[in-house]
Amino acid sequence: MSRYRLLPTPAQQAVLRDHCGHARYVWNLAVEQHAHWRPGRKGAPGYLEQCRQLTQARAAHPWLAVGSQTVQQQALRDSARAMTAFFDPGHPAGRPSWRKAGRHEGFRIVGRGRQWDVRRVSRKAGQVWVPKAGWVRFRWSRAVPAGAKSYRVTMDRAGRWHVAFAVIPAPIPAPGNGRAVGIDRGVAVAAALSTGELLPCPALTGRERARLRRLQRRLARARRGSNRRGRVRHAIARLKARETDRRKDWAEKASTGIARRFDLIRVEDLQIGNMTRSARGTRGNPGRNVRAKAGLNRGILGSGWGLLVRRLEEKAPGRVEKVSPAFTSQRCSACGHVDAKSRESQARFVCTACGFAGHADVNAAINIAAGHAVTARGGDGAARPVNREPHLLLRPA
Ligand SMILES: [Zn+2]
Repeated sequence: MSRYRLLPTPAQQAVLRDHCGHARYVWNLAVEQHAHWRPGRKGAPGYLEQCRQLTQARAAHPWLAVGSQTVQQQALRDSARAMTAFFDPGHPAGRPSWRKAGRHEGFRIVGRGRQWDVRRVSRKAGQVWVPKAGWVRFRWSRAVPAGAKSYRVTMDRAGRWHVAFAVIPAPIPAPGNGRAVGIDRGVAVAAALSTGELLPCPALTGRERARLRRLQRRLARARRGSNRRGRVRHAIARLKARETDRRKDWAEKASTGIARRFDLIRVEDLQIGNMTRSARGTRGNPGRNVRAKAGLNRGILGSGWGLLVRRLEEKAPGRVEKVSPAFTSQRCSACGHVDAKSRESQARFVCTACGFAGHADVNAAINIAAGHAVTARGGDGAARPVNREPHLLLRPA
């Protein structure tokens, strides 16, 4: 996904905001219909039925009718696709969730002949066509990918507009050197390779984090609805957006590098969505180790692991293998001995049998590269302290 800063005029911003609102309304309507569906009942309406309902809704609600039908239909199509992905056992995705105003603002335009277009107007500026808004300028910060079939216009929490051209990255040819690499999802470091390389995902700098903490304290003191509060929230959102940008950039570069260098890429089969949800638990059944897991999950999300794996699968189709994560971090990559005590700390592995010592994440990555899925032998991960064995905790074998 290549993202460009969109620079709508104030009048265009009003149109874009309407599109966002309509797309969100339609998406949430679809989510709601699916939420009422239970096994045994007649299925929730499919896309075509929803389109008929959309036509009715437009007739009933003038505010919806003044909007772009293209934008609204696309939101329906997107939600139908998200539902299919959710029910696909081979590639389970998260359940499409409710979109909130101010948080998930965006809509998608799909190319259909001459109804959409992208053009360059100067060295540093381009324009995209948006229904009812016309040509909207964007910063031509790099070449627009040739194979773009659709684009998504979004507004982040800081109020910045972006346009992203959806292109599935062109597959990178395998180098043909027969090399396999294992990648471990670390917490302190985003990813460790079996070659011994550590790939830290750039986060905020120490100074930026300190500023963020200061702003958050200030926000807590600011009166609700005050101008000051708005300014502080805006500044916080900008800092967070900066971190997200860095993470995305990192995932692009790291995945390209790995896909170029290795024929076979093995990663742990982790379902990040499930892990992050499990920590919170439900009211009747609060999750165990909630606080510790929450911290860990932040680390996982912060590290951009999910994005890295997605990009790898796109850039190296058919060359990414998922390996069971069970015990990869307790197994000695030198002698094969499995012992929880070998993992001295988050970062250090010392084998209790043969004395092999190394970086714990690299040791795990070597196991993953070898495709070793050690079976559980009555291991009860949940009983272990969280800082020792995150993998087991998150997915008891
Ligand atoms: Zn050993």
